[in-house]
Amino acid sequence: MHKGEGNTAEPTPPTPVPAALHRVLGLVVSREATNRAEIARRSGLARSTVGQQVDHLVGRGILQELESRQSVRGRPPRVLTISPRAGTIAVADIDTGASQVAIADLSRRLIAQDTVDIRIDAGPRAVLDAVSERLLTLLEKHRRDPRRVRSVVVGLPGPVDFEQGCAVQPTGMPGWDGHSVSDHLRERFHAPVVVDNDVNLMALGEAAQGSSGTPLLCVKISSGIGAGLITAGGDVYRGADGAAGDIGHIRAVGADNVLCACGNVGCVGAIASHRAILRTLGIPESTDDDPLHGARVLAQRVAKGDPPALHAVRQAATEIGEVVAMLVHMFNPRTLVLAGPLSELRDDLLSAVRAVVYQRALPLATRKLTITTSRLGPGSGLHGGIALATQDIFSARGIARLLADETEEAEGTA
Ligand SMILES: [Zn+2]
Repeated sequence: MHKGEGNTAEPTPPTPVPAALHRVLGLVVSREATNRAEIARRSGLARSTVGQQVDHLVGRGILQELESRQSVRGRPPRVLTISPRAGTIAVADIDTGASQVAIADLSRRLIAQDTVDIRIDAGPRAVLDAVSERLLTLLEKHRRDPRRVRSVVVGLPGPVDFEQGCAVQPTGMPGWDGHSVSDHLRERFHAPVVVDNDVNLMALGEAAQGSSGTPLLCVKISSGIGAGLITAGGDVYRGADGAAGDIGHIRAVGADNVLCACGNVGCVGAIASHRAILRTLGIPESTDDDPLHGARVLAQRVAKGDPPALHAVRQAATEIGEVVAMLVHMFNPRTLVLAGPLSELRDDLLSAVRAVVYQRALPLATRKLTITTSRLGPGSGLHGGIALATQDIFSARGIARLLADETEEAEGTA
């Protein structure tokens, strides 16, 4: 039985945040309002109330108010933004062959990112220690106080128990089952830790770009196949237990002779994933000097028009298309994003999946559907992690925590 504090536990419940303060901060965070007059207009709150809350947030170093260069009728309006002093976000997107890490400020601006070359089968302690070290190095290099990390977000390439902050029976991740990633990182950063499935983060990153309409469905084709769904309101849909989107074990048609790592036969992830294609073509996934050997060789063969490689990719795309068509019927997304190493191969995958989806799904579900490859590429998980961190930091509970921390820090330095 796992005894960790999990993703969402609070040692002491913070004092509730006044509704007016939450509203004022929310309008600045979403950039719906950038000055006091706009906040009053949008919120319907009295100007004096807005003034009080803004003064409070500026005084705590959470907002900053700067003179705008654009002068309107003589008096320059003062612009409100999140203060760079308000703190830092740390994100780790852990993948099979290597992990990506990034730090960002609370206005979602990426400060720095880096890659940590460690394989996931090194186990949770080694991977999480290496990732933490690199994040601390980035913080130091960019002069960000590690004590002011407000949220740590971690993406894992397997099923994640969102409440407990750990992976649950992931395949190819020895030692990770039930290991509390959130406890492990909370000890290092003394900040709230949110652990999520990597495809959920990718989906959130794509949706946070603004140009992609929601609901958004992101399908990642890598060592397995997984999906992330973003609701019309911009939230991750995780289902009752966090298992939503774990589509790699949906049964594909006519593949009953293929055994999957989960113990069942005919799972779509076992016949149409990037790993499965490499296996079919006899290309090793990685070598000692090159963890991405398989992806590189397959990309070269596809680019050269090698018939067996093209056939394998198109065959996989058809299988994936069948599953995706079903999901399109079920969720009616506005945007469908294909991500992972396979989606970076020319247009073969995209056009083959698109053909099956349009052939299978009904017109009402597809007439406004955009099918695209990832706009952010391999960085989408990091951007999603930054978005998830700010959702957490600027939730009612997160704001209470932020104000409590600022009080402690102010008292500590007094
Ligand atoms: Zn399976």
